[in-house]
Amino acid sequence: MKGKLVIFSAPSGAGKTTIVKHLLQQDLELEFSVSATSREPRKGEVNGIDYYFLTVDEFRKKIENGEFLEWEEVYSGIFYGTLKSEVERIRSKGKNVIFDVDVVGGSNIKKFYGTEALAVFVKPPSVEELKHRLKNRSTESEEKIKMRIAKAEKELEYVGKFDVIIVNDDLPKALIEAENVVSEFLSENGEN
Ligand code: ADP
Ligand code: 5GP
Repeated sequence: MKGKLVIFSAPSGAGKTTIVKHLLQQDLELEFSVSATSREPRKGEVNGIDYYFLTVDEFRKKIENGEFLEWEEVYSGIFYGTLKSEVERIRSKGKNVIFDVDVVGGSNIKKFYGTEALAVFVKPPSVEELKHRLKNRSTESEEKIKMRIAKAEKELEYVGKFDVIIVNDDLPKALIEAENVVSEFLSENGEN
């Protein structure tokens, strides 16, 4: 049987990567959908594990060839996308796919797969707190943090397109909530 799909989306800094990494360590038969991006790797990020890092030209070529299930220019000049081959690779093994994608990508994947997918929106307690988290994470320049925050208000408007909302205020609580909703969805055998 083909695996199911679990989507985590949120404004940058809300904590979705932290939650997704935790879920991958649980006994849930999940495998991470490695996205393609044209952004520079961060310190410690590995090609093929965190992302497939492509040049803008390579990315555009894959768009032209119809290789993406979805793609977005999430920030000006920076592309992100889910390769069809990545989803097939994981599902054909019977494993469940977990996505960490922006809110537009997440709602598009949900629309495409319907009840085969669970779409989870991770909400930060406030935009102020997002700023703190991005500053503390220290992975982006001040200018890039501003760009991410400017986008967050708009992104929060997508919440209604998702099946479940997890407010990530107290992290241990958010992790348990995520484990519960995902394991419940994966154990259902029909519609969600
Ligand atoms: P995203 O993937 O949504 O951009 P991350 O998972 O990278 O977000 O989290 C952003 C930063 O906030 C990271 O430094 C992470 O360790 C931290 N963080 C995650 N959840 C919480 C939380 N509940 N409280 C405080 N800091 C958090
Ligand atoms: P980051 O640069 O912090 O890794 O990611 C920035 C944003 O791009 C995040 O919201 C992340 O979820 C999103 N993203 C990562 N991969 C994809 C993808 O394949 N498709 C879309 N639409 N967004 C993605």
